[in-house]
Amino acid sequence: MPSLNDIRSTFLDYFRRNGHRVVESSPLVPRNDPTLMFTNSGMVQFKNCFTGLEHRDYTRATTAQKCVRAGGKHNDLDNVGYTARHHTFFEMLGNFSFGDYFKSEAIPFAWELLTRDFDIPREKLLVTVYHTDDEAASIWKKVAGLPDDRIIRIPTNDNFWMMGPTGPCGPCTEIFYDHGPSIWGGPPGSADEDGDRFIEIWNLVFMQNEQHPDGSMTPLPKQSIDTGMGLERIGALLQGKHDNYDTDLMRSLIEASAHATSTDPDGTGKTHHRVIADHLRSTSFLIADGVMPSNEGRGYVLRRIMRRAMRHAHLLGAQDPVMHRLVPALVRQMGAAYPELTRGQALIEETLRLEETRFRQTLDRGLRLLEDELDRLPEGSPLPGEAAFKLYDTYGFPLDLTQDALREKGRKVDVEGFEAAMAEQKAKARASWSGSGETKDAAIWFDLAEKRGATEFLGYDTEKAEGQIL
Ligand code: ATP
Ligand code: MG
Ligand code: MG
Ligand code: MG
Repeated sequence: MPSLNDIRSTFLDYFRRNGHRVVESSPLVPRNDPTLMFTNSGMVQFKNCFTGLEHRDYTRATTAQKCVRAGGKHNDLDNVGYTARHHTFFEMLGNFSFGDYFKSEAIPFAWELLTRDFDIPREKLLVTVYHTDDEAASIWKKVAGLPDDRIIRIPTNDNFWMMGPTGPCGPCTEIFYDHGPSIWGGPPGSADEDGDRFIEIWNLVFMQNEQHPDGSMTPLPKQSIDTGMGLERIGALLQGKHDNYDTDLMRSLIEASAHATSTDPDGTGKTHHRVIADHLRSTSFLIADGVMPSNEGRGYVLRRIMRRAMRHAHLLGAQDPVMHRLVPALVRQMGAAYPELTRGQALIEETLRLEETRFRQTLDRGLRLLEDELDRLPEGSPLPGEAAFKLYDTYGFPLDLTQDALREKGRKVDVEGFEAAMAEQKAKARASWSGSGETKDAAIWFDLAEKRGATEFLGYDTEKAEGQIL
């Protein structure tokens, strides 16, 4: 059975054999894009190659790209622990053509790799195309011999990709694997497509148009290809599993978590172990790429992920910091492919240990306060905003941590009330300062604090965060 490390190599070798330059993963903090919080797909480092702003000495590339989807437009933080297929950190395998080959080669490349090199039974695969993309549909028919009902036409933006409000864009095709009727979920495009029966493994984007500011769209002079396949998803199916968390790599992290907390990896704490394994990867890789926990911007997203993991460790009964003890298991699994992890090991361990030591001082009391509040409320009613704010302000509970804790009980936070309590506290602080006679400095200070508060706050709001947070 191939390991995830083997599968990564098979992918890169396949595209190397087909004339692609193997390019290293770029860091999780995008170098060339201040509007993006974290690198969230393989194409990020190649943006300027697609637009023609940058030329390199190759026109075909392949990568295994570190991705984090825990803030900004793509945010899968709330999916972790709930779906079989989402992580906050994952590796995206991709092949890219910068004005070189297009659809009629990209589709056969993908099909050949999946069905020949990876030997996936073709009858388990189905694809989607954008509803007007007859060209892609007919290539699929010719290359894969798929019947019409397994080439599903999708009219929504799920199958139309855009780099931004303007710039390169085009239709895409997604390849799905059918894990069988024993798992709930309908095919893509159906009412119950959110289930985990049909899992999207690979997305092929055909950049063929350019969107202009005046709303018009014209053909691109050079058509390009951008693809992305989740290593953990292809890994699960090649290892005969349905769930990403049952792959060799994730499993070894789950076992490390079980060992460190002296609990059963598959017992009642199963979900906690999955969340911990996932968050261990995102937090470690972010620290290795220079992000440190803080109260704003990227650092606050990191802190939120760390603290969420720490609550899950606490629920497993951990009496001492746990996360830093899991880092060696991660380095064993991924240090060879990502040397920055090995280089950063000491820093990662120390950062996790310090954060968990600090957070443990208030975590337990905060959770007890939360329980007391809930006991006092009528069954099912939301947690008042002031209580959530107190947890935030006094106990260091990011709002999403409180929401995560309540979700298990089917309850919610009054978010508007939370925001109001936050605003009220700021107003009070401002009023008391302006009375102190140091108004000018204070005004500057508060403007700054306001801005910092605002950026921190935007971290919760995935839609607004993109582009504004930094
Ligand atoms: P989904 O619809 O399942 O959320 P997506 O359409 O958002 O996936 P893309 O943006 O197309 O995903 O990313 C390309 C590929 O990366 C996907 O086909 C999938 O294999 C993988 N992928 C995307 N998000 C995640 C994630 N959170 N965890 C693991 N793999 C992912
Ligand atoms: Mg998604
Ligand atoms: Mg999708
Ligand atoms: Mg997709």
